[in-house]
Amino acid sequence: MLRVECPDCGEIVELRENTPVGSRVICVECGVELEVLSLYPLEVDYALEDEDDWEGEWEEDELEEGADEDAEGDNE
Ligand SMILES: [Zn+2]
Repeated sequence: MLRVECPDCGEIVELRENTPVGSRVICVECGVELEVLSLYPLEVDYALEDEDDWEGEWEEDELEEGADEDAEGDNE
């Protein structure tokens, strides 16, 4: 068994040694979902939720394409 401390409550979370990186485990103590970042050393972090519950609004206004300014060249 591999053991790692829950980043949320500090409880020891046990993982199987063949747990694949990227899989998710639930802390039995606080119920937080953790994602396995690496096994050696064992690192976990909060799993990001894939659901549509994100309340942030993405700001895309600052993305501008400046492709025209490099177009000058004397290629003959
Ligand atoms: Zn926990």
